[in-house]
Amino acid sequence: CGIVAYIGHREACPIIIKGLRRLEYRGYDSAGVALLNGQLTVYKKKGKVADLEAFIGEQDTHAHIGMGHTRWATHGEPNDVNAHPHYSTSERIAIIHNGIIENYAALKQHLQQQGHVFHSDTDTEVFVNLIEEIQKQNSCTLEEAVRLALHEVVGAYAIVVLSKDNPGQLIAARKGSPLVIGIGEGEFFLASDATPIIEYTNEVVYVNDYELAVIRDGKMEIRSREDVVQTPYIQKLELEL
Ligand code: GLU
Repeated sequence: CGIVAYIGHREACPIIIKGLRRLEYRGYDSAGVALLNGQLTVYKKKGKVADLEAFIGEQDTHAHIGMGHTRWATHGEPNDVNAHPHYSTSERIAIIHNGIIENYAALKQHLQQQGHVFHSDTDTEVFVNLIEEIQKQNSCTLEEAVRLALHEVVGAYAIVVLSKDNPGQLIAARKGSPLVIGIGEGEFFLASDATPIIEYTNEVVYVNDYELAVIRDGKMEIRSREDVVQTPYIQKLELEL
């Protein structure tokens, strides 16, 4: 339902939580965040963003890269386990996802045969394990694995992916579900609509279907699903706060 992510010099968690609050108007049943800071830590909870904040409590959330999600359940009841972000089996990769993966059941069966273990009833957990399996099979980069996974999933998605093995990197992709990237000075804000972004920057790129954005070292690169570098169309928003 709602996506917010941040990569830059500021503390990620407060920006993400504030962004999730700005997306609350869309409705949701649970909320969660993943923070990348050497470790890849996930906090998630059924209920409101306020419940997530209470759950995080006084824990150390220090990180300059992170992502958050408000879920509107399509596959699996609203509960803590089905809330996003979801880990891959190794817990080295995490994903947030808006939309529906229509061929998740067939993919899940195949991945279970490959030894992947599922904890939730979501279609989303299939996506992140597919990325992990493709990376293992091809000994490729995470970016390449995400790109190849886009060829195998059928349905609608906006996703953000973080990996413990790529500590300074954030990957996002979309097909059918909206995804906006706000460009700041050496920092980037991702969201499912511009509402959480406009207080930081008015320069945005709307990611197109079948595009993949890789953000690292203060730079963003957008590629097609066929691995062709795209020139992003940067728009200036004139929205009221
Ligand atoms: N299909 C996913 C789920 O049920 C994502 C739903 C959403 O867009 O929030 O977990």
